[in-house]
Amino acid sequence: MTHDVNIKSFNAWLKFLGKKRPICIAGPCSAETEVQVMKTAKQLKETAGLTIYRSGIWKPRTRPNTFEGVGEKGLPWLKRVKDELNMFVTTEVANGYHVEKALKYDIDILWIGARSTANPFVVQEIANALKGVNIPVMIKNPINPDIALWLGAVERVHSVGIDRISAIHRGFSSFGAKKYRNLPQWQIPIEFRNYIPNIPMICDPSHIAGNKERIEEISQRAMDLNFDGLIIESHFNPEAALSDAQQQLTPKKLKKLLDKIQIRKLVGKNEKLSNTLTAMRSLIDDLDASLLDTMEKRMKIVETIGMFKKQNNLIVLQQKRWDELMRKNLNIAKKKGLSKTFVNNFFKFIHQESINKQSKIIND
Ligand code: PEP
Ligand code: MN
Repeated sequence: MTHDVNIKSFNAWLKFLGKKRPICIAGPCSAETEVQVMKTAKQLKETAGLTIYRSGIWKPRTRPNTFEGVGEKGLPWLKRVKDELNMFVTTEVANGYHVEKALKYDIDILWIGARSTANPFVVQEIANALKGVNIPVMIKNPINPDIALWLGAVERVHSVGIDRISAIHRGFSSFGAKKYRNLPQWQIPIEFRNYIPNIPMICDPSHIAGNKERIEEISQRAMDLNFDGLIIESHFNPEAALSDAQQQLTPKKLKKLLDKIQIRKLVGKNEKLSNTLTAMRSLIDDLDASLLDTMEKRMKIVETIGMFKKQNNLIVLQQKRWDELMRKNLNIAKKKGLSKTFVNNFFKFIHQESINKQSKIIND
């Protein structure tokens, strides 16, 4: 089901920004001083050729008593970037007051942060403040993996007449030690685009990675998944940054990274590529069909066994049998070069379904 939000296509955005895919937005996590804002912007423009500048002005952090942004006094600095360097500028707004101030200083694009998207009260307040204003808005995914919240935020902003909306994928919070600061869960932005197919999707590899090292790999992945752009944190002197120091790149390093990323093409209208791909995909379709046949047969046998267990008053979960089966299957999988995690999860799923079926039969 697609949502009834008439968003201007990516092309309308590109026209506005005067750019080709991928759009690249860069700048510091936070505006700290006028010198830092100007110096970083100048380097991004001169070294990396970038023209869209991001910077947080209000930075309510996860915990208090850390740097909370310079606030309003940073807005004239962004205005200077816009006027003197001829760049587009964008900042985060988290309430109606922020919107009012950002508009006063001619900010070109606003963004709604992940914590705000998670709160419909906040999103509605921002939307109300945007009534009658024609400004592009980027909406980050909520910190929790909830597509409906993300879509709801787009709908609230769209309902006040904003039609240049894009989405930013910045990953999702999770508990415990992990490889990423925020888990990418790529299937979520992909599914999100099934609901609003022409919404520009921008990836924020900085907040997904949480460190400098993984930014390139995440950016490449986003491009391979046909994302429209990137928003990357950059600071002229990352070590001295007052927020997110560990994930910011110098403009020079960012330029290197952007040069390295491969922008692969869509199959689109190229007939030869498209025919070859269709042929290879038909092999996959055949295999998927036989997987489903096998599953159908397996579940029928599971039902027969369920009936047998019921007649003989046996319990559903026979742990020993399951352990043996898994050991055997993992051994075979290893010889076939299949990943252990994948095969483990695959059989866990099948097993869960089998247990559900048999429990139902026994209790019917
Ligand atoms: C940011 O972009 O600096 C920011 C605060 O991001 P997020 O809302 O994704 O945490
Ligand atoms: Mn940040």
